[in-house]
Amino acid sequence: MTTVPVPEYEVKEKITLKARETAVIVVDMQNDFVKPQGKLYVPTAEETIEPIRKLLGKARAHGVKIFYTQDTHYDGDPEFEIWGEHVKHGTWGWQIIDELKPQDGDIVIVKTRYDGFYGTPLDDLLKVYGIKNTVIVGTVANICVLHTAASAALRWYKVVVPMDGVSALTEFDYHATLRQISWLYKGVVVKSVDGIEFTS
Ligand code: ZN
Repeated sequence: MTTVPVPEYEVKEKITLKARETAVIVVDMQNDFVKPQGKLYVPTAEETIEPIRKLLGKARAHGVKIFYTQDTHYDGDPEFEIWGEHVKHGTWGWQIIDELKPQDGDIVIVKTRYDGFYGTPLDDLLKVYGIKNTVIVGTVANICVLHTAASAALRWYKVVVPMDGVSALTEFDYHATLRQISWLYKGVVVKSVDGIEFTS
């Protein structure tokens, strides 16, 4: 094993975002990834449920648009060769966890790859609603969260990621994700969802 130090990346305590120009994107918080009985369980994902719930509460109180991505595969999907069968359409594992159930007015984006923008209407919808900032939370940090964050940044959306809102399988993956979001995509890493404020 090679050990390398994590390069410094900036972590902000607080950020204030205009509610009307901001969307929260909850990535793949589905039973297969979050629950111990799930097919691709990420043990630390459960710790992010409460922070994400808090963030969604604040967002809803300010009329911030909320998006969910729902990773979705059908029989014979080539991703099964990489990861085994997971989030098969219509199964329990495919469903978004009860604790974070989408509510009326939320938008669920069904996606078939890591990137929430790839082959989906996400970009169009963000544009329709005049969104400039995306607050991205969910799992898995270095896979679907990072691909979605990167894709948002390439389209010039500002990306904000609270550290307690994302989870990974290893500490390396976790920090590599945050460093990449901060350093390469010029996003904002915030210490906690408590540091994210919305204004009118
Ligand atoms: Zn998948």
